[in-house]
Amino acid sequence: MTPLDTLRALVELQEIDLRIRELEKDRQQIPARLDEIAAILGEKREALKTDQNLLDDAELARRVAESDLKAEKEKIKKWEARLGEIRNNRDYQALSREIESARKANLGIEDEILRKMQEIEDLKGSIAEKEEELAGIEGQLLGEKAELEEQLRSLNERIEQENAVRQQAVEKVDQRWYRQYQTIKDRRDGLAVVAVRDEHCQGCHMGIPPQLYNIVLKGQEIKSCPFCQRIFYYPPALEQPSSASEQAG
Ligand SMILES: [Zn+2]
Repeated sequence: MTPLDTLRALVELQEIDLRIRELEKDRQQIPARLDEIAAILGEKREALKTDQNLLDDAELARRVAESDLKAEKEKIKKWEARLGEIRNNRDYQALSREIESARKANLGIEDEILRKMQEIEDLKGSIAEKEEELAGIEGQLLGEKAELEEQLRSLNERIEQENAVRQQAVEKVDQRWYRQYQTIKDRRDGLAVVAVRDEHCQGCHMGIPPQLYNIVLKGQEIKSCPFCQRIFYYPPALEQPSSASEQAG
């Protein structure tokens, strides 16, 4: 394998790795947005459920108060009937007071019923509002969620394909160079192989000593940047026929 063959293989590997990195970057953002959608819908649904529970409670309280009032009114009616049969003045006074205080208590129950009716009306309004709001955003967010899940499936598939392509590219590179590539890639933000242009490294943008630059232009040796250690290549040099086709021709 000539240095140019190795450089071509490393450049190919670098391109695949950059594509995988972009795909992974896209993929990374999806779960956060899916969580956000779930949180928004969960919060709205929870608020609606809370109102619905409050409505159930208020309706139950109203029914209980109405049934209490009915029972109290019947009791007063019975007492009033008995009042007509009482001959003893002291007993008459005592029962009259009982009736009076029961009537006052009923006023309290009636107030409570009115309060509950108002509460029920308010809650029904609030529920209708929340249901409308939820229906509005639910369609939109569930659509977005389905789209994101589809994107996630597609990204996973493409990353898997790229990894298969990468495996083939790795096999073309010498183990020694592959290890070096991986080491530089890890240290230099994923970019291990860089082009040279106008006597400058396209990785760290430092000027390259002329002698080193000339070697890189010829592509007969593999050289690294003295500043960032990234592996250099000169794009036009890679265009030359590979050793395989040289041998074939
Ligand atoms: Zn550099």
